[in-house]
Amino acid sequence: MTALTRSCAVVGVDAVEVLVEAQVIQALRRFSIVGLPDSALRESKDRVRCAIENSGFNFPNREVVVSLAPASLPKQGTHLDLAIAVSILAADGQLSEDAAVGHLLLGELGLNGSLQPTRTTLAAAALAKRLALKGIILPRKNAALASALNGPPVLPAECLADAVRFLKHGGSLPDVEAVIPIELNSAGPSFRDVYGQYGAKRVLEISAAGGHNALLSGPPGSGKSMLAERLPSILPPLSKDRAVEAALIREASNLKPIGLCSSPPFRAPHHSTSTAGLIGGGKYPTPGEVSLAHRGVLFLDELPEFRRDALEALRTPLERSVVSICRAGGRTTFPADFLLIAAMNPCPCGYHGTKGRRCTCLPTDIARYAAKISGPLLDRIDLHIWVPPLPPDTLTKLTREKTKDDTAAMRTRVQNARRRQRSRFGSDALLNCSVPSDKLGEHCGTSDSAMKLIKSALESTMISARGFTRALKVARTIADIDDSDQIDPQHVQEALSYRLPPSVGVTA
Ligand SMILES: [Zn+2]
Repeated sequence: MTALTRSCAVVGVDAVEVLVEAQVIQALRRFSIVGLPDSALRESKDRVRCAIENSGFNFPNREVVVSLAPASLPKQGTHLDLAIAVSILAADGQLSEDAAVGHLLLGELGLNGSLQPTRTTLAAAALAKRLALKGIILPRKNAALASALNGPPVLPAECLADAVRFLKHGGSLPDVEAVIPIELNSAGPSFRDVYGQYGAKRVLEISAAGGHNALLSGPPGSGKSMLAERLPSILPPLSKDRAVEAALIREASNLKPIGLCSSPPFRAPHHSTSTAGLIGGGKYPTPGEVSLAHRGVLFLDELPEFRRDALEALRTPLERSVVSICRAGGRTTFPADFLLIAAMNPCPCGYHGTKGRRCTCLPTDIARYAAKISGPLLDRIDLHIWVPPLPPDTLTKLTREKTKDDTAAMRTRVQNARRRQRSRFGSDALLNCSVPSDKLGEHCGTSDSAMKLIKSALESTMISARGFTRALKVARTIADIDDSDQIDPQHVQEALSYRLPPSVGVTA
């Protein structure tokens, strides 16, 4: 007799349906799983056998074949255990053949038959919703997160026996407790504890408002990382859909799941991170840092120290907001729409151009250091700001005077600028940084005197034609922060002041 149950495998951030079919054959006592299982899944043979016997059922004393379809799709993970165990019991007649086929079954089995939590919760719940299944049976610890999607009923089970009892006799599994709370945006660090550095704060505000990438340069210890870490505190909180999107990406990675969170993600990979770590990769492709930063901030400290190939690989996600990874099994796509904030020292020793400190680098070293970042990458960075070191006496004076916390005011200005962009473009997805060039004239109402200023900058070769477009987009954001429909000269002037210095990125 054969029996069928339903579970899933994860491809990228999405789950695909896996049909688990078991057959018990009158032959030797043997147990095999076919359909490209990975090693953890192959080991489920032993877990499932023990779990079945320790839950008061009989493991068939004959040959058992379990087939995972589609056979060509590589499958990994231990969450298929429950579906395998139930299909064996059904194939052996200990449960009706079609009892489980309308449900999605999920969960790793302990040797004693208990159901252990799984990583693949949200993707599985989304699949059950897509397939309009009768319900999803899964470990209790995963139930709250799965119920966040408002899909088919979520039926938490403590153990294999619980799940079988429900499938045999119906009735109820314990109710899911209240939906998990979405963490509030105020949880992260705020700008309250950053003294001074008004220029850098202003740049981060413009960056958050219009989605412009930024580069902070300055000597070590000037607070570049501290500033960047606080950027999520002024970004608009994630909507529920976007929080689910972020949680799905985290689920697909090897990181500890944190549930739904409305704070935009902040990722700061070390400069020794491999290209695969940054962009994504692996035999079973997992998302990289650019995807983990989706809808949030990717902070690259010491930008010139990153591997050249890793920085080059950043160009595609910066342009298209997605990453595609090709493997023998096919192409996997991960979303990667992030705000890039980079930081660098002005030279290898860190003190070039810093008042009161002596740079010990040769001019050739400084040029080589700056040239590590290619022109095409710099092309995607709209804002540049020098972050000077704060003299110790200023710091103590400011500390005494208790600088006021401007986080709330910054956040309000960002929200207003985003609201203006939403009504202008009619969508949440488009920000000033990504306005297509042909629409630029239509959306960037520029006063005559402001246009004159840009043209004179163009004529004096202060900016290139591409720089002109970028400066105009930044000026549009600054005008939005100012609540102005028109771009005025002061907006253009400020936008031009954030251009990259010619010493950075001289090579292509
Ligand atoms: Zn130096």
